[in-house]
Amino acid sequence: MEELATTLQRHGFAFKKQFGQNFLTDPNLLGAIVKDAGIDNETTVLEIGAGAGALTRALSAAAGRVLSYEIDRSLQPVLAETLAGCENVEVIFRDFMKERMDAVEKELGEYVVCANLPYYVTTPAVMRFIEEAKRCRGITVMVQEEVAARFSARENTPDYGAVTAAIARRGVCRIVRSVPRTLFTPRPNVDSSVVRIDFTGGFEVKSDKAFRETVKLAFLSRRKTLENNLINFLKLPRGRAKELLTLAGVKEGVRGETLSPRELGHLSDILYENGLF
Ligand code: SAM
Repeated sequence: MEELATTLQRHGFAFKKQFGQNFLTDPNLLGAIVKDAGIDNETTVLEIGAGAGALTRALSAAAGRVLSYEIDRSLQPVLAETLAGCENVEVIFRDFMKERMDAVEKELGEYVVCANLPYYVTTPAVMRFIEEAKRCRGITVMVQEEVAARFSARENTPDYGAVTAAIARRGVCRIVRSVPRTLFTPRPNVDSSVVRIDFTGGFEVKSDKAFRETVKLAFLSRRKTLENNLINFLKLPRGRAKELLTLAGVKEGVRGETLSPRELGHLSDILYENGLF
């Protein structure tokens, strides 16, 4: 098969930085990502960012069906070539972030996400699935190394934050592969990792909104105690803040970033039951 760079050149394609276009070509890596995602011939896959179709092709060979979004219409003639013969692939030339999740899910049924995500939209794209998806079984995506660290961080570490807790509420996130920058064209300034989030093993909360607000509050001023954040954020008298934290089993002087996602979930239930959100 012709080198991807040659195909792109033949089509006069120019990489667009604003769309996070860093393409993959290494066949071993592409095959490994498909394996990381646990895709078999019954799996429906949603890809965000077909690019020149290298990962899409690898997904097509393993999956039952692949639906891939691509924002850049100038890739249409390239993809018509690189995906020729991939009967189970459909590429939609639209901005995935502007799609309605319920409409996408109606089209797909149960599915997994597998993508080399455009870096500028990584966290908002993953958060869409965390917050809105109902039929997604899991997400396996290439992200920048530092983002992977944030997604999968443990409590009480500098990488732990609101995004970590939100992901942990829905499932289990693991870094499954490190990918050096040299494997991308053009080469980015940072290394990447593949993360896999399985939408099982999360935990229930009484109110999603209360959980979101509690997490926001917990990380509002990272260096302040939860008690002070409760007072400032919810305008509570100190006595009431102490009472609520005692009810939630939170010790005095504790900062939000020391609570595990489940402990934040429990705190959010207490705040919700007490009419605060
Ligand atoms: N999957 C290809 C690969 O691995 O070589 C391309 C990955 S590249 C990191 C990200 C791709 O996502 C680019 O082709 C870019 O044009 C596309 N993209 C960027 N923003 C998008 C959006 N909002 N919706 C759909 N595609 C998008």
